[in-house]
Amino acid sequence: MEIHQKLKFWYQSASRDLPWRHTSDPYYIWLSEVILQQTRVDQGLPYYYRFIQQYPTLQDLAKAHEDEVLRLWQGLGYYSRAKSLLKTAKEVQRLYHGRFPASYQELLALPGIGPYTAAAIASFAFNLPHPVLDGNVKRVVSRCLEIQRPIESKAAQVEILTWLNACMEPSDPAVFNQAIMELGALICLPKTPSCSACPIQAHCLASQSGRPTDFPIKKSKPAKRILHLAYALAWNNGKIAIQKRGSTGIWANLWELPSVETSEPAEINALEEFFPGLNTVVYRSFELPIHLLSHREIRAQVFMFKTQSKASHQVEWISPDRIDSYGFPRILTRFFEEHEDVFRVPLPTEFLKPDNGS
Ligand code: SF4
Repeated sequence: MEIHQKLKFWYQSASRDLPWRHTSDPYYIWLSEVILQQTRVDQGLPYYYRFIQQYPTLQDLAKAHEDEVLRLWQGLGYYSRAKSLLKTAKEVQRLYHGRFPASYQELLALPGIGPYTAAAIASFAFNLPHPVLDGNVKRVVSRCLEIQRPIESKAAQVEILTWLNACMEPSDPAVFNQAIMELGALICLPKTPSCSACPIQAHCLASQSGRPTDFPIKKSKPAKRILHLAYALAWNNGKIAIQKRGSTGIWANLWELPSVETSEPAEINALEEFFPGLNTVVYRSFELPIHLLSHREIRAQVFMFKTQSKASHQVEWISPDRIDSYGFPRILTRFFEEHEDVFRVPLPTEFLKPDNGS
């Protein structure tokens, strides 16, 4: 039996019963595809019903006011999708008198319709042989073929499309597309594929080699640069020092505790650069949780001490109860929240009293 036949039999017996699978109306199919982008089926289902009840035809939707559509969309997130939905409806109304064109190229030319949605409408509504390429399909095919290239690369996409076109039964592209998408959603799961229940296991290289979860191959992300930071929680006469960051780089223009970047895990000595002649006992030190930014991993330590040393950079001495009036990066606001005692509970008087040098 060929792949498309195996998929078809499996789909007929195992697929979920979803309302948009009982129609070939391109408006309903398109609506379901837009709603299901970045949304789970169980979450999208009530919205689908709400939309078709409020706007039973594309003409009804095209006449709607944007506020009304956004209200109906409320809770689904990604509101640009709702705006794009309305824009596409108006365009189909204007160009095609409210009927979606029955050609992949014309569908693709509409605003808000990309290759995936165009292929879905073309095949599900008009039974045209265009493979759909969503995340589920890419995962299934990358495993069947053990595609060694990063899945988002152009070469990998060509390999996948070539395989899909070769496997697709031209007389029944709708069922083929639905079936392979459903296989990815129900059986060929990202972390736990059920290969023993898979109708196309005999055609799957990754299952045969025992390493399905090694595929698809993702483009490796560059390793995050580790940045060590020594923060000074410097007290002088009941006040603490803060400084404003520069207008470029991370946390631009935010306030922070005086800090020094180091290449190794931070030590109190690093802060001598900031408080020259610093010769002090650390009253407390705090290791902050690792803080992740898009390209960096911040490992920071806060050293709390009393000083009379003049800072070498410009700082402001503020009463700690004013800390909420300044904008700090999250790494520090979290520290302030978690160590409220440092600022609210009275510190020992001998710690707060001006240092007399003894
Ligand atoms: S055999 Fe396993 S890895 Fe291969 S397509 Fe089926 S479920 Fe996915």
